Amino acid sequence: MIHFTCDMCRRNIDSDELRYVVKMEVYAAYDPATQEEDESDRDHLEELQEILERMEDVENDEIGEEVYQIRRYDLCSECRKKFCENPLSMEPSKHFDFSQN
Ligand SMILES: [Zn+2]
Repeated sequence: MIHFTCDMCRRNIDSDELRYVVKMEVYAAYDPATQEEDESDRDHLEELQEILERMEDVENDEIGEEVYQIRRYDLCSECRKKFCENPLSMEPSKHFDFSQN
């Protein structure tokens, strides 16, 4: 029997409990403005394809991770809710903390 652990709170997720999977894709954004040809008809899939092709040339895993990275997390239902509310773990509304004279 396979046991899953929530990657946020580290507790076991029961087999009869809902489990959520978060897939994060992080990749380097290449600026198309550096090329002179008209880029307006290029779509993002094409760009991603280029990145993937570049990746194949990269033997070093460390450099590869900087260019393209997929992470996968298992979450319990409670942590899924927390994650969806604040996916980037940002500080709670600090920018509202300004003083008025
Ligand atoms: Zn959890």
